[in-house]
Amino acid sequence: MLLNKVLRASVRSGIRLQSSSAAAASASHSGPSSSLGYSFELTDQQKEFQQLARKFAREEMVPAAPAYDRSGEYPVPIITKAWELGLMNGHIPQEYGGMGLSIFDSCLITEELAFGCTGMQTAIEANSLGQMPVILAGNDAQKRKYLGRMTEEPLMCAYCVTEPGAGSDVASIKTRAVKMGDEYVINGQKMWITNGGKANWYFLLARSNPDPKCPTNKAFTGFIVDADTPGIQLGRKEMNMGQKCSDTRGITFEDVRIPKENVLIGEGTGFKIAMGAFDNTRPPVAAGATGLAQRALEEATNYALERKTFGKVIAEHQAISFLLAEMAMKVELARMAYQRSAWEVDQGRRNTYYASIAKAFAGDVANQVATDAVQVFGGNGFNSEYPVEKLMRDAKIYQIYEGTSQIQRLIIAREHLGRFKK
Ligand SMILES: Cc1cc2nc3c(=O)[nH]c(=O)nc-3n(C[C@H](O)[C@H](O)[C@H](O)COP(=O)(O)OP(=O)(O)OC[C@H]3O[C@@H](n4cnc5c(N)ncnc54)[C@H](O)[C@@H]3O)c2cc1C
Repeated sequence: MLLNKVLRASVRSGIRLQSSSAAAASASHSGPSSSLGYSFELTDQQKEFQQLARKFAREEMVPAAPAYDRSGEYPVPIITKAWELGLMNGHIPQEYGGMGLSIFDSCLITEELAFGCTGMQTAIEANSLGQMPVILAGNDAQKRKYLGRMTEEPLMCAYCVTEPGAGSDVASIKTRAVKMGDEYVINGQKMWITNGGKANWYFLLARSNPDPKCPTNKAFTGFIVDADTPGIQLGRKEMNMGQKCSDTRGITFEDVRIPKENVLIGEGTGFKIAMGAFDNTRPPVAAGATGLAQRALEEATNYALERKTFGKVIAEHQAISFLLAEMAMKVELARMAYQRSAWEVDQGRRNTYYASIAKAFAGDVANQVATDAVQVFGGNGFNSEYPVEKLMRDAKIYQIYEGTSQIQRLIIAREHLGRFKK
């Protein structure tokens, strides 16, 4: 709690800078060329966030992760402590009680938490995903009510878009919203909702115009839904390949009545809100994948410096040292990709292209590097007494959620070709 106050105090005192804006112009930016606009140096405050998150990840998350992986239990004590330290919900604006961190600053924290355990980090990050439509499109009363409460106690929220029959193809979701007086009545089924069983409220996307000819940008509406609204039924916690302590569920909405005050912006604007959130949330997903890859690299390197074969440590076999070099190259580039995509959106620029590059690249890197780490560990790598098999299982989801690797390539290709087409 004390540290949370320290972080908040330093944020409020205005030391923070390049988070959002103009990194470059800051006085606390060390390095002679900071005023030129491009610098790889973090500010003192960013280093402070990073160090706090790094310490928490290594001292609290790493030791706890194997047991949570085995039990699949939701990591309440870790989340509570992360909340107390100010390591989650960082981008809630200051006027609603948050720290107003930029996407860049949030990503620095996310990378460190992912190093500790991506199951825990995904649970924490899903809050950002659920909050982002409200941050981007909520009115003052909605922000005060739903974001404000998350700064007062460690509550969770969730982003409810995917359905059993529609993931990549969001426009084919079937959940219906029908206006009745001052309320909307929701019926439908959502699937794969992270924090589904733990959320205090949901962002929900539903089809409000039944006409199949209605254009996508007018057919859907985004709602904020209190999780205790009658008619909401939670599915069982899904047993996934990795990130096992994260809570993923289906949720059924049966005649759920939502007041019109909980519509974001207005009827018909939901698709844009739901998709627009990704420009802000894909950089942190890429940061999470990078954190996992960094962990795999460190575990593999330490092992390679200890394990001996043929009279020398395996790091001295060129095949292994080159493998480590390849892993290091990928981790560095994944980090640069997420930082660029975060920086772009913090400048107020459309970052869709960079966000998809970062998400696709870092997701692939996490999988490649975790698999290589298992290889460096040999037989031990295949065993759950060692940390790398968990990393390999945990990595896979980065190529699936928040838009699969294929969907990212569709977006990158569209954005790229769009620059060439007349
Ligand atoms: C653990 C977990 C947590 C999740 N959390 C959330 C959450 O919090 N909120 C939420 O709303 N959703 C969540 N999801 C859902 C996730 O975003 C979707 O699973 C994902 O977008 C893919 O959708 P799908 O599973 O329906 O696969 P599909 O869309 O059926 O895709 C199947 C395969 O086809 C490929 N494919 C599809 N269309 C194309 C195309 N046009 N071109 C090329 N290839 C294509 C895909 O890349 C994939 O390989 C989560 C999923 C999981 C597993």
